[in-house]
Amino acid sequence: MIPFLDLKAQAQTVGSKIDAAIRRAIRHERATSRLEAGAFEERFADYCNVACCRAVGSGTSALHLALLAAGVGPGDEVITVSMNFVAATAAIIRCGATPVFVDVDPVTWTMNPALIEAAITSKTRAILPAHLHGLMADMDSIMSISRRHGLLVIEDAAQAHGASYKSRRAGSIGDFGCFSFYPDKNLGAYGEAGAVVTDHPELARRVSWLLDRTQEDEGNHALARCDHGMDEVQAAVLNVKMDYIEAWTEARRSIAAQYDQALSSLAVARPRPPSHSRHVYHIYALRLRHRDQAIAMLGRAGIGVDVHYPVPVHLQQRYAELGYRVGDLPVSERLASEFLSLPIYPEMLPEQTGIVGSEVKKIAGGEQTFRSGWTFQDGMPRHGLVA
Ligand SMILES: *Cc1c(COP(=O)(O)O)cnc(C)c1O
Repeated sequence: MIPFLDLKAQAQTVGSKIDAAIRRAIRHERATSRLEAGAFEERFADYCNVACCRAVGSGTSALHLALLAAGVGPGDEVITVSMNFVAATAAIIRCGATPVFVDVDPVTWTMNPALIEAAITSKTRAILPAHLHGLMADMDSIMSISRRHGLLVIEDAAQAHGASYKSRRAGSIGDFGCFSFYPDKNLGAYGEAGAVVTDHPELARRVSWLLDRTQEDEGNHALARCDHGMDEVQAAVLNVKMDYIEAWTEARRSIAAQYDQALSSLAVARPRPPSHSRHVYHIYALRLRHRDQAIAMLGRAGIGVDVHYPVPVHLQQRYAELGYRVGDLPVSERLASEFLSLPIYPEMLPEQTGIVGSEVKKIAGGEQTFRSGWTFQDGMPRHGLVA
């Protein structure tokens, strides 16, 4: 059995250090001190090469706070991608604003900058690209469009700790970078945690003000504890793991290189990182036309695989009210029906990577006599085989 993700393996490397750090953090006199959270903010700001970091309760909360700090509110529009985890869309809606989706680039699978300008209206306030799977979006193009139109940029960097674009770290190029430290992320706490980073002290002050607002402004509880700071226990865990993040990232990159090598003789589509980008492989995904069949076959071979993400946000039932239909974002829809994520975690052994590589090669090398896609059943999009 080769699991998709093995968090126990990591606990074996750092478990005892983390136990000690947690014991320190929960000593009575330290519980409300922010000693751990403050130390983490400094380290993570350094790591992202920005002036300021605010440690918060989750990645979704980081996105919500960044949007609020960018002045996004009811009636505004935020341009984002549908080929992403749902958190960014949820955060935009929680601000009372409307997400406007643009399609992704078929080569990098991230926001296609050529489609942004057509989506800008007088209501647009911000652009929110995502660094899908750990590969950064085309930030130069996105920044130049945003500056031309006076829009702020919020990076959803929840899968991209330590990724870079032209030597600049994820989170440091836009006005805000938002990170998640959910346990399965490249840098994971033992529970919910996130961070907002920014190079602009004024924007960081706005985030802090939003976090502290219930205390400062007794009469106004509009935001009462909707978002909160990172707790000391999670910060203590992350402070230990910061010592390992670069080694773990390099391990992920080397597993990805082994997969690339194993699949090099086949025309298996994967996102192609531009040479100036450091992909940190939160997810190693590839495209197979007969994806669902491949998942079943890999499952029988004892290999844990996953799909990130099977239904693009614009086709999810929860967001039907936004009015999108099948066919509106053809690249995102096609990717969603063909994606497959292979096991990747720093402790994976070369033998395991080899087994996964050769199983995928066997399957992908076989005849592709059918394809998968979207069909409608009772008005709901369903993924499946189409003739
Ligand atoms: C995990 C994730 C989030 C949300 O983070 P939480 O800490 O779970 O709230 C946001 N965006 C992306 C791309 C993610 O992968």
